Amino acid sequence: MTEGRHVTVTEDSVTADSVRELLAEARDGVVTIVAAGDPVLRSRAARYTGQLDSETFAELIEVMRATMHHAPGVGVAAPQIGIPLQIAVIEDLYDVGADVARVRERTPLPFRVLVNPRYTPVGPETAAFYEGCLSVPGYQAVVTRATEVRLECSDERGREIDEVVRGWPARIVAHETDHLDGTLYIDTANTRSLTTNEQYGELWSDPTPERAATALGFSVDPG
Ligand code: ZN
Repeated sequence: MTEGRHVTVTEDSVTADSVRELLAEARDGVVTIVAAGDPVLRSRAARYTGQLDSETFAELIEVMRATMHHAPGVGVAAPQIGIPLQIAVIEDLYDVGADVARVRERTPLPFRVLVNPRYTPVGPETAAFYEGCLSVPGYQAVVTRATEVRLECSDERGREIDEVVRGWPARIVAHETDHLDGTLYIDTANTRSLTTNEQYGELWSDPTPERAATALGFSVDPG
């Protein structure tokens, strides 16, 4: 999933000053989301090793959370607001309807902070669904991902997390963690499944991408 040519951001190149400068641009607590084409989205972010004082760290988390809500989205990685640190926020409490929730295993995901996350697939089971990205606005495409992943990271208080995440939350964890590695979902998406948000809403919003696969001519890997 990752290529070896990503630029790695060094830990000491991200300073509290540079982060505070960016946070100062927030309007109503919200900053602009960086779009694909910006090198920050293609770099391997620096591990967070306490580069920020606790006040700046807390403000960063609040701005990321507000920006995610404003978008709206279910996750924001720090590089998406121009900060190359391995930090992401995730939260998915949207009502998507019973059928979609059941088929996609889209269970409620309360707000949480992932610091220096990594994930590894658990078992052979995969799931193929449409997903999108706030940094690639206007489009969605089908990505096949592990149904279950082991998530290892720290939380906002520095506590070590090691747990298995399943279903749609696993997809969100993988998508956001990939951002911190300079990977966008389009790198592994089935390109023939690409659809605008408008076409998705009109045609392809059913729980699975089976009909889209037949109509658009792509194959969905069996789970
Ligand atoms: Zn994204």
